[in-house]
Amino acid sequence: MTAPHQLSLVEVRDRLAGGELRAEDVTRACLTHIERTEPRINALLSRRDTAALEEAKQLDSLGPDASRPLWGVPFTLKDSLLTKDLPTTAASRMLENFTPTYDAFAVRRLREAGAVILGKTNMDEFAMGSSTEFSAFGPSRNPWDTTRVPGGSSGGSAASVAACQCFASLGSDTGGSIRQPAAFCGCVGLKPTYGRVSRYGGIALASSLDQIGPLARTVEDCALVLSVIAGHDPRDATSSPLPVDDYMAALGNGKGLKGVRLGLPKEFMAHGLSEEMEQACREAMDLAQQLGAEVVPVSLPHTHLAVAAYYILLMAEASSNLARFDGVHFGRRAEGARDLEALYRRTRSEGFGEEVKRRIMLGTYVLSSGYYDAYYKKAAQVRRLIQQDFEAAFKACDIVCGPVAPFVAWHLGEQDQEPLSLYLRDIYTLPVNLAGLPGLSLPVRLGTQSRMPTALQLIGRPFGEAALLGTAHALWSALPLPGLPPAAH
Ligand code: GLN
Repeated sequence: MTAPHQLSLVEVRDRLAGGELRAEDVTRACLTHIERTEPRINALLSRRDTAALEEAKQLDSLGPDASRPLWGVPFTLKDSLLTKDLPTTAASRMLENFTPTYDAFAVRRLREAGAVILGKTNMDEFAMGSSTEFSAFGPSRNPWDTTRVPGGSSGGSAASVAACQCFASLGSDTGGSIRQPAAFCGCVGLKPTYGRVSRYGGIALASSLDQIGPLARTVEDCALVLSVIAGHDPRDATSSPLPVDDYMAALGNGKGLKGVRLGLPKEFMAHGLSEEMEQACREAMDLAQQLGAEVVPVSLPHTHLAVAAYYILLMAEASSNLARFDGVHFGRRAEGARDLEALYRRTRSEGFGEEVKRRIMLGTYVLSSGYYDAYYKKAAQVRRLIQQDFEAAFKACDIVCGPVAPFVAWHLGEQDQEPLSLYLRDIYTLPVNLAGLPGLSLPVRLGTQSRMPTALQLIGRPFGEAALLGTAHALWSALPLPGLPPAAH
């Protein structure tokens, strides 16, 4: 029999709403499972066990509420999302023990919908990285194989969802940080269109690229979470006023993929892609064809420039966003500084890790006068070309498909000391952020050699989440899928 914590979000929600399960029992099941798995997984940076149980009991005493679509459902949240009752550190010593005074917009929406927040998840420091190995508080581990990374930067969120510590989590994706860890851990991750979910209360990495989105065990679960967190927020000037589609209705059960044109960019199935990942993507595309989809070749000719453009823009924006951590406004303050200049220097030297310092320095460099045109402006121009590539591709197809990452989750400590080689692994996810499009990571099955999850990426038109989720759901229902990892049991 499936234990309560192993159900999907929609399944548990239905049982809670129907009175078959009590909120307290579901929360307790998750907390017990967290207790059992955390020593191996290290997905969480902070927890609120007692408060969560109290909240669940409170919900039970009032009884199920049909107007709250996540009534009694336990969640975890990436530690870059502000929470008024839990520390928010972005996995940095700079914000150790920092507790915000308000909730991020998406967090507030979850709470209003009845979700029970269990804790905050580990990540790469300030979301810079792809493995959680840049967390100041030690890496998380992949529930499929604890000698491997869970991906990053939202690696703790992906690990906590895959290990069934919760039913869904929120992450943030600036260059792949929802999709890549979802792919590494065998869950579903959705980066919405830029502007679909408010960034209010998300600690900014690169404001023109950041989006908050769900990680869950099924496509349907992601659709439900997105329908709760999407929508206009006047406190985020880039949040879109466009109406939110009915994502659950868009799943169109049993409709297959008749008439859907899937584009396969030739630049994505190229050099550098591991055999295992290529095989999985091709298999998923074949399956899509059997379900009635048409697969058309498309081209994204500026893909090879995406990594360079992304890292210039990201570092420039990050260096500016992270200027606020100065020892005066938030979190850490160095002891014994004699003047203001020394206070800034000491606080930032002590508070930030290596990778964060590297990016701040490079970002400051590319924005300095004399270099602005050569680097920042050029990168912004390349970004436009990448957007145009997608616009052209979407004339020939409805969804662009490809890998999420060149290979499956690597072993802890295996990552090259050379930052550039790490950056190059983001090649399939970065273009989607540069173009502001929605992207979804869909688990395919376990890889034939590694026995680790493989994944297919689906990329939609701007604000095309409904079509994206519909296609993903049809495929998800037919794919072999990796199932639940050992740590989920
Ligand atoms: N791996 C990418 C980076 O290091 C993406 C990070 C993200 O999406 N937050 O920048």
